[in-house]
Amino acid sequence: MQPPPSARFECCNSGPELENLPCEPTLLLGGSVDRGHGQSDLHIASMGDIANLIGGREVPAASNHTFDKLRPADGSLLCKVARSGDSDAATAVAAARAAQRAWAERTPVERGELVRELALALQARRGELAEIVVEETGKSLELALGETDAAIEMGFFVAGEGRRLYGRTTTSAMPNRTVMATRRPVGVAALIVSFNTPLPNYAWKTFPAVLCGNTAVLKPSEHTPASASFFAQLCQDVLPPGVLNVVHGLGPETGPPLVEHEDVDLVSFTGSASTGRWIQERAGRRLAKVCLELGGKNALVVCDDADLERAVEWSLASAFSNAGQRCAAASRLVVFDTVYDEFRERLVEGARTYEAGPVISEESLERILGSLEGAQVAAGGERLERPGWWLAPTVLENVPSDAELSCRELFGPVTILYRVRDLGDAIELVNDSPYGLTSAIHTANLHRAMRFADAVQAGVVVVNGGTHGSEPQMGFGGVKQSGTGWREAGVEALDVYTEWKYVNLIADPAQA
Ligand code: NAD
Repeated sequence: MQPPPSARFECCNSGPELENLPCEPTLLLGGSVDRGHGQSDLHIASMGDIANLIGGREVPAASNHTFDKLRPADGSLLCKVARSGDSDAATAVAAARAAQRAWAERTPVERGELVRELALALQARRGELAEIVVEETGKSLELALGETDAAIEMGFFVAGEGRRLYGRTTTSAMPNRTVMATRRPVGVAALIVSFNTPLPNYAWKTFPAVLCGNTAVLKPSEHTPASASFFAQLCQDVLPPGVLNVVHGLGPETGPPLVEHEDVDLVSFTGSASTGRWIQERAGRRLAKVCLELGGKNALVVCDDADLERAVEWSLASAFSNAGQRCAAASRLVVFDTVYDEFRERLVEGARTYEAGPVISEESLERILGSLEGAQVAAGGERLERPGWWLAPTVLENVPSDAELSCRELFGPVTILYRVRDLGDAIELVNDSPYGLTSAIHTANLHRAMRFADAVQAGVVVVNGGTHGSEPQMGFGGVKQSGTGWREAGVEALDVYTEWKYVNLIADPAQA
């Protein structure tokens, strides 16, 4: 049996085994470090001072204000971070605008070569990057390395698109008229992302954005400033100044001035539905292009003919890996009545020993614990007695399908068991959700699998696997409140970061 993947973003070439990795002794934070890779010596601004990157220069917030970033694993201080506001956002947008025309004038092939250089730079520093992610998120090194490799693979995939930025031709009713559709950059893009898988989140937006000839302002999550700063410095070594700018800060302070800035042509956002709704409204007022990739309440269905061992393994991995902080997490497990008790027993046993990792913040832990009040807990349900923000992997049951708990995304290691009679009931329950991101079914029956794939309201369907796991060449996104119809990754990402231009050439054969 194939083991469940350890990362949300699997990639085909996930690199060497853990024991063969170059073991970097310490985190880069704290000063400059010579890694002996023959490259310029990167350094993350010393502990206590993570700066913005604007126009190729590291600058503090104009106010000189900072905020504290704490380690989720033990609550200790990791670093202080630029707390940016309106003027920092405006300066970054101006830098991006100033660099955009010259960047767009380069050929897509050349831009693709630079994206490949970026991917190679990430590859050379993968161990350091992963260690930073471990520090700032508390996830395991194995997960962090898998995500770093996934970001690298995205770079290689996108780089190739520089040689394949295909357009189209079409016919015309007019003789001697040649019509071709070409892709053009949108302009200046604000890229606003979540904390959960930081490097893939940067890669999924930054690489296609710049490949397509846009310049960008990346607003990383306030929970992952260190990896964003390292990523930005690698980009700074490869890209011309101003092509990628990074502004750090708290969401409600740093995000709105980007979303509302009249010189931002595209807002590409990955985060919660509530923030996404606000962004859509605000950016909509000025008719900016907006791409939203939002949350999920993803269901995994276990039929009576499923391989139960496999179904339990995938359920545990999809529900609890990365502490359940995945848009594609399996937060609903829909099980046929006849195998429910056996599945439940195995799942609860697995949950009790599962190493999920901490959630990202005290606030997140408190929010999740608060939402569990009064629920029937089969496993977990309590804070672990240790420093940091640890919630025991939690399994709930007997939650009505229309209850708040069934409908709201918790974004933590919590899953709910539901009992159903048959496939029809399962499909109805799966679709009875405000979200529609990913879904999975475990069955040995092709006909059931096909019926489920056809009927389920979701952007991704997996048969006999988890609800999480994607690859760079696969478009990813959801329906209903999981997004606004765009797909990231795959060639579909090119639609987010380009506009179509129709060019009409009318020839006169008499003049030939
Ligand atoms: P969030 O909405 O709180 O924050 C996301 C980003 O938006 C952060 O950078 C934050 O600083 C910023 N932000 C906050 N308020 C803002 C505002 N008013 N204007 C502009 N920006 C603002 O989400 P989160 O807690 O970081 O991430 C969890 C959510 O992300 C979950 O709902 C998860 O499902 C979703 N997610 C979706 C995908 C996907 O591909 N569909 C992938 C990862 C995460």
